[in-house]
Amino acid sequence: MDSAYFAQRIRTIADWPEPGVQFRDITPLLRDGAAFRRLIEAFAERYADERIDAIAGIDARGFIIGAALAYRLGCGFIPVRKAGKLPFATVSESYALEYGEAVVEVHTDAAEAGEHVLVIDDLIATGGTMLAAVRLMQRLGAKIVEAGAVIDLPALGGAERLRAAGVPIHALLRY
Ligand code: AMP
Repeated sequence: MDSAYFAQRIRTIADWPEPGVQFRDITPLLRDGAAFRRLIEAFAERYADERIDAIAGIDARGFIIGAALAYRLGCGFIPVRKAGKLPFATVSESYALEYGEAVVEVHTDAAEAGEHVLVIDDLIATGGTMLAAVRLMQRLGAKIVEAGAVIDLPALGGAERLRAAGVPIHALLRY
């Protein structure tokens, strides 16, 4: 399985950005060209036979993975941005983070009713960020294919929370 290969390229920073958080840093994985490609291929294999009209990537690490995957699958890309960054009319959702609180937004024309959207981020902790992005897409009438992430932290309950909300989730690694 690829999980050990990816895990070797993920760095853990203790107590960052605040005490008690074990930050999972994927920059070494991204910096390794072969590993970055293998990461995108791992997702691409999973979704090769799925109808996906667009990938919604979450600010900011979800942009890197989501955009590369959208290019690979030949579908569109939707940036799910932090508040105040998008120039056109937006819909927004607020949510609680593992540390702090935030708002995410998309443009009102980011997806059309009935479109199949895959939501991508680097990591699911409490699931708040992913759930907010899913809700944005659902408010535009999109069907969620799945919530995909490189890493899931099951102890923080995010995956469970998403499943309870009827959202299928897929993660390459669990810590
Ligand atoms: P949550 O909303 O609690 O599921 O948090 C997920 C979001 O916060 C993702 O966009 C992650 O990039 C970031 N995040 C939360 N906890 C961590 C962590 N321990 N290591 C790396 N990123 C994290």
